[in-house]
Order: sequence, then structure tokens, then C-alpha cells
Amino acid sequence: MKILDGKLAAASVKQILKAEVDILLQNNQRKPHLAAILIGNNGASETYVASKVKNCEEVGFESSLIRFENNITEEQLLSKITELNNDNTVDGILVQLPLPKHISEAKVIEAISPAKDVDGFHPVSVGKLVQGLQTFIPATPYGIMLMLEHFNIETKGKHAVVIGRSNIVGRPMSILLSSNHPQGNSTVTLCHSHTPNLQEICLQADIIVAALGKPGFVKAEMVKDGAVIIDVGITRVEDATAKKGFRIKGDVDFDEVAPKSSAITPVPGGVGLMTIAGLLKNTLQAYKNNSVN
Ligand code: NAD
Repeated sequence: MKILDGKLAAASVKQILKAEVDILLQNNQRKPHLAAILIGNNGASETYVASKVKNCEEVGFESSLIRFENNITEEQLLSKITELNNDNTVDGILVQLPLPKHISEAKVIEAISPAKDVDGFHPVSVGKLVQGLQTFIPATPYGIMLMLEHFNIETKGKHAVVIGRSNIVGRPMSILLSSNHPQGNSTVTLCHSHTPNLQEICLQADIIVAALGKPGFVKAEMVKDGAVIIDVGITRVEDATAKKGFRIKGDVDFDEVAPKSSAITPVPGGVGLMTIAGLLKNTLQAYKNNSVN
């Protein structure tokens, strides 16, 4: 069994990005610039955004963290997005989800210029993804594809089972794995909360991508020998022995499933780190597409 170490794979992506930025700077060009909007003070969102900003610095990008209180109006947020859309020195815009209930997620996502949509959530980006056109791929599925590439995991002709159909993970993942791509060409089954015979389907899987947000859900009896297991889940579970009072758990029961698998991602230290690698790659691409450098 091989551990698919996100730290290793992400470091290799970041090393290449850093080398590209070094060349830009040597040629007196400006740095790629990611603007991140964070609303309120949700602990997990704070951690994710802080990590995105830190990683931007590591590869030599500029980043702006724009913070708003929970009571910001939808209009104020949309107006900030328009301002960033019109700012030629900003290449990528991300609005950390979830948003406060009084703000429409769909409206906010649609307000971001598709040219700066480095999260890949805009309907234009999703439409292009479905059609196999060049676009920004949502960061988590993109990160998983980069991980499969890094560790030379064969996907062609395999049966991949994706558990979870969200717009940010499961659905785009199913599209990518089924597309005509070096890390695609799988036969994909997309499962969700209304799938009755999940265990039976999972037992036929060569690759399982678990993205349902239920800690420890995938058990040994759901996995065939030698399967590749990609665990996307990140749930904070209480743990009095941990410094912060919680620890992070994935959607896979790692201790049970790892010995049966041929390769498995750990949580933490797996897909989460690759998500940031995907976001950074999208940001550099947005910079390259931006003519004002
Ligand atoms: P979501 O809540 O939007 O979607 C969950 C999906 O799982 C739904 O489509 C639902 O139908 C399905 N589901 C729920 N219970 C199920 C069951 N019993 N059987 C089969 N399907 C079931 O979640 P999301 O935003 O896609 O996130 C999923 C998990 O991945 C969460 O733990 C989240 O924190 C994590 N996540 C991790 C990263 C990362 O970078 N590693 C990024 C995004 C999300």
C-alpha cells in the first residue's frame, strides 16, 4: 500500500510555479496576484484562507486578503467584486464559502469575471469543463488530478466511483475522471445521498473518491482489494487530547481501509494540500491570460 502524500505532490507543483514566477520577476514583470475575500470569522474558513495566502507567498505571488464583517450586504459584496474585476493588477478572485445566509452564493459566483474565476465555480467555467475546453478547474478536483499525475495512478479503463455530487468536488470530479484526458478515461459512477446500493457499487470500484463530509464513512467492507482511495473529507471532530480541542477526520476509515488499498490519501496531509496547489496553478494561468503584465 502506497501513501499518496499531498505534501510531496504539492511541493513538486509549487516548485515549478516558483521557478516560473522567478523568471517573470527577472524579466521585470509584475507578480501574479490573488485577491481573497473572507466574510465573518468561521474558524475553518479562516484556516483555509490563511493557508491560501501563505502558499501564495511561498511561490512568490502577491495576495490581498479582503475581510468583511458578517453583516456586509449583498450589494456591498457585489460592488467589491466589480471593483476587483476592473482592477487589471488582480488576476484571480476567490470568495471563501460558505457565505452568510442573507447573501446569494449563486449571485456572488456569477459576479466574478470568468477570466478571474480561479475557483472555477462560475457557470461559464463549469460549462467549459463539461465540454472539455480549456478553463479553470475547481481547485479540489484539479488538485486530485495533479495528485494522480504525480503518483502515476492509472485511470484509463478503470471504474471510478465518486461519492458526493457537490458542485465544488463530486460533480466536477466525475466529469474530469470520465473525460478524455491522461488522468481521465475512467468509467465513472457518481453516487449521492439517494444511492441505495452504495456498498455494492463501491465494491466494484478500482478508484474511490469519497467526498460526502461524513467522517469514517467508507469502511473496509465497501472496498475491494487493491483499490485506490482518494479521501476528500475534512471534518472537525472533537478531541479533548488535541491542542485545539478537535482533530481533522476524513470520509474514509483509514485504519481499516488502508491495508486493503493499493494507494490511499491521508487526512490531513492529502487532498487538502493539493487543493491549494490547484488554486495556485489556476492563478498563474489567469495571470498568463491577463494581457496587463
Ligand atoms: P456537500 O455537503 O456539498 O456534498 C456532500 C455530498 O455527499 C452530497 O452530494 C450528498 O448527496 C452526498 N452524500 C451525503 N451523504 C451521503 C451518503 N450517506 N451516501 C452517499 N452520498 C452522500 O459537501 P462538499 O462541499 O462536496 O464536501 C465534501 C467533503 O469534502 C466535506 O468533508 C468537505 O469539508 C470536504 N472538502 C474538502 C476539500 C479539500 O480541500 N480537501 C475541499 C472541499 C470540500
